[in-house]
Amino acid sequence: MSESFLEVNGVQAGYGDVRVLWDISLSVNKGEIACIVGSNGAGKTTLLNTISGIVKPTAGSIKLEGKELVGAQPDEVLSTGIAHVPEGRRLFKGLSVQDNLMLGAYLRNDREAIKEDLEFVYEIFPRLKERATQDATTMSGGEQQMCAIGRGIMSRPRLLMIDELSLGLAPRLVDRLSETLLEINKAGLTILLVEQDVMTAFEIAQHGFVIETGRVSISDTTEALGDNPKIKEAYMGI
Ligand code: ATP
Repeated sequence: MSESFLEVNGVQAGYGDVRVLWDISLSVNKGEIACIVGSNGAGKTTLLNTISGIVKPTAGSIKLEGKELVGAQPDEVLSTGIAHVPEGRRLFKGLSVQDNLMLGAYLRNDREAIKEDLEFVYEIFPRLKERATQDATTMSGGEQQMCAIGRGIMSRPRLLMIDELSLGLAPRLVDRLSETLLEINKAGLTILLVEQDVMTAFEIAQHGFVIETGRVSISDTTEALGDNPKIKEAYMGI
């Protein structure tokens, strides 16, 4: 069995007096794709924001390969090896696709490796190479999602977290992005996905966590989750 890589233990977090995460514990193994599913407002985005240091937890621990991340600023979390592709992509208007991609590497100074990574991003997303000089925010939703994922890859992360891969995208495009994620994963990158579309999430990921009202209610292989009548009824409309 592969070693445990990301360990989240007893995490509580919220906004002001409003508690959103009540007690989150989960672990992601090195080399796997894991997904977090749950209904609207369950706390999925808040959990990713807590892991990446944007939201400060009031209790609990978050470790990447044994290194405690609670208390670290977002750029420290990034330099530890966690890249976060946020919901809504958040590309910078007025900057080209290439400049947006390069922003992902702003904490690095290994120029040659950055160049290699840019070539890798252009190889997996040829559309971005074609559009390299275009204002990133004028691209289609799918192209912008590619750019946001590419920006995440440009930090050369050990863990790539993606919030809502499929949001607003046509099914065919989601299939293409899913295939690309599987390729990147095969190349060695561990991925944690938050996904509203449970079927898509279960197709891509090996392990799944169901979050209900700020707690992990079920943790299982996506194969088992896909066969679970409760999950089928509540989240897959079957
Ligand atoms: P969705 O699938 O709809 O994106 P989610 O599971 O990602 O939902 P979160 O976005 O984490 O859920 O939101 C969880 C709860 O926290 C919601 O009730 C939301 O209104 C609240 N919340 C999120 N962001 C903030 C904020 N910045 N300030 C106050 N409350 C917030």
